[in-house]
Amino acid sequence: MNEHLDPTTNRYNSEEFDLEKKLRPLSFDDFAGQDHVLENLKIFVAAANQRNEALDHTLFHGPPGLGKTTLANILANELEVGIKITSGPVLDKPGDLAGLLTNLEERDVLFIDEIHRLSPIVEEYLYSAMEDFKIDIMIESGPNARTVQINLNPFTLIGATTRSGLLTSPMRARFGISSRLQYYSTELLATIIERSAVILKVPIQINAAIEIARRSRGTPRIANALLRRVRDFAQIKGNGTIDLEIAQYGLNALNVDANGLDEMDNKILTAIISKFKGGPVGISTLATAVSESAETIEEVYEPFLIQEGFLMRTPRGREVTEKTYKHLGKVNPNLQGG
Ligand code: ATP
Repeated sequence: MNEHLDPTTNRYNSEEFDLEKKLRPLSFDDFAGQDHVLENLKIFVAAANQRNEALDHTLFHGPPGLGKTTLANILANELEVGIKITSGPVLDKPGDLAGLLTNLEERDVLFIDEIHRLSPIVEEYLYSAMEDFKIDIMIESGPNARTVQINLNPFTLIGATTRSGLLTSPMRARFGISSRLQYYSTELLATIIERSAVILKVPIQINAAIEIARRSRGTPRIANALLRRVRDFAQIKGNGTIDLEIAQYGLNALNVDANGLDEMDNKILTAIISKFKGGPVGISTLATAVSESAETIEEVYEPFLIQEGFLMRTPRGREVTEKTYKHLGKVNPNLQGG
């Protein structure tokens, strides 16, 4: 995998993580795109603020790096409340969750990333907290062990998932608000890159911002990461300003695909052409061919490939397009001699 195109890369590298935090929008006004989602959220937040109530539990789903964590933080800011952040795999036992829940102030936000990865026992424990703002806690041990019910402050659970298909239906049903985030257009990503360049104090020309945006797989996290790398090229190989030439030079040096596709995107497209004559091929057959789960292909990879016109979903399965043959430098055998 080309790490520069991996939307999850920066999450675990602390220096990059700090930079990413610096670039994170803090209010609705700073947040570019996702207009439909934002319009609704603004209304729900204004209504909750007016009633002085906690916002309804909110679920964000969509591919990595599109702004789910950012939006959770923005919601807490706009609600003027605190936020506690955790993730599904970290919450091992109900006790871990109880500790977090009992420390929430009235209307606070509890953000659980990768909520589809909660263990069933923790998930069940969460149900009554979400529904009645009550939890059972075990006190003492041995023969005196007993459970007591305690009341929680009303809070908002914000869940984020890249794999909404893996959420159980009882869990899904407990979210009053559910929003799917979409990939960003090149124009929007260029706006985000220009804003980030101002924060990083690096001059950038608009055509260079567009070139970086075009190669960012519709994903702000990738756009910001590429901007930071191209900035290094501008500093060392150029005069500090990011112009089109230095952007192209840097992106080529980083082996970033001209269309911003990552390795798995290309693997999927190549497999459809070389193993299934361009398709149509069923999703589970395709999944086996590229050693990835069918759900991940459907939820993480396919939406971008379809949006960009590299893949079509037909009743008989997935098919590549003429654009795909061109992108991979292959000849469409179905057009030969025809
Ligand atoms: P993951 O699912 O991997 O946790 P995510 O969807 O939570 O990803 P974020 O961490 O919120 O993604 O966003 C990644 C980075 O992209 C942020 O640091 C932020 O700088 C930038 N970003 C995301 N959305 C926007 C936006 N709409 N406008 C400006 N910057 C954005």
